[in-house]
Amino acid sequence: MKNIEAQVPVAEHALLSASGAHKWLVCTPSARLEETFPETTSEYAEEGRLAHQIAELKLRKHFIEPMGPKTFNNKLKKLKENPLFQEEMLNHVDEYFNYVCKIALNYPSTPYVTIEKKLDYSTYVPEGFGTGDCIIIGGDTLHIIDFKYGKGVPVSAEDNPQMKLYALGALSAYSILYSIKKVKMSIVQPRLDSISEWEISAADLLTWGESIKPIAQKAFNGEGNFVPGDHCRFCRAKALCRARAEFNMSLESYNMMKPPIISNQEVGEILIKAQDLVKWVKDLEEYALSECLAGNDIPGWKAVEGRSVRQFTDQEAAFKVLMANGIDEAMLYERKPLTLASVEKLLGKAKFKELLDAYVETPPGKPTLVPESDKREPIRRISAEEDFKS
Ligand code: SF4
Repeated sequence: MKNIEAQVPVAEHALLSASGAHKWLVCTPSARLEETFPETTSEYAEEGRLAHQIAELKLRKHFIEPMGPKTFNNKLKKLKENPLFQEEMLNHVDEYFNYVCKIALNYPSTPYVTIEKKLDYSTYVPEGFGTGDCIIIGGDTLHIIDFKYGKGVPVSAEDNPQMKLYALGALSAYSILYSIKKVKMSIVQPRLDSISEWEISAADLLTWGESIKPIAQKAFNGEGNFVPGDHCRFCRAKALCRARAEFNMSLESYNMMKPPIISNQEVGEILIKAQDLVKWVKDLEEYALSECLAGNDIPGWKAVEGRSVRQFTDQEAAFKVLMANGIDEAMLYERKPLTLASVEKLLGKAKFKELLDAYVETPPGKPTLVPESDKREPIRRISAEEDFKS
């Protein structure tokens, strides 16, 4: 699948979108700056949209709008005609569907369920609205569930501003009808085997909503300081933003450091600053290439054809020629076992677990350097000297 962004019409969304809150809550002028760049989408985003449509159909049939198998199958067939559809999508959607059903069943009495609900959180964020994938309300508990189809990185529901904004919108919509005291949030990412859950009291959520009002107003007005950080990779200004460029270029000041050998303290500081550097350079390269291809000048750079690899025009016909000339067919093909992930995909998760669980192990991963904020436990190798002492 291509990861090339295409400039195509995308769904209507708020200037201060919930999904962009991790950006504009920290870098308040970013939303207005992003407005000056064209909206883009990608095949990944379109694939996610299709998975959501399938999930919506299944949940709607189950909870809201009972429909006969013929109507359901016709609707599903239409969705399957999308060129981005793949059979495995149905398994992933089922995992999300089953999770929603499990949550709904855990309520002591049949809860209220709504799907793809437009949520207005403009009481807290100017013109703020978004779409909640699934909302379940029963007793004093509102549960909001977000389905993410991507297979990038697991997203935590804990203190997640996107989820909190959706939940504020849901509270605004349903507080008149229900006496909601608890708000639960879940992010379901079936392709990463990740379900993250978090809970907050409605009172604390409302307090958070009040606390972000001045920040949201600043963001709406395009005021405040540009604050570069990890969130920049989701910003449409990521390649050309001056604040990000200056932040990354400021690494040069380390040239002035004395003495000639840098300390571990400085290694830590440089690595923190350099985290965004590689991504930023890649963003700049992508931008410069698109400019060169569009006929615009990026001094010192040009677009050329990359290295190309020879390939058969018709592999089957070529192999036939070889066999006709005495080459054994067995010499032309390699027999390779499927990877664990491919076997699991072939069998489905349940069957895979049933048949092969005893044959699966997860060896310790290769030591990897991560920022201190990473949730994993640190590992420490014992030195030979320490080992000797113990
Ligand atoms: S690239 Fe980063 S610093 Fe620049 S506007 Fe976007 S989020 Fe803010």
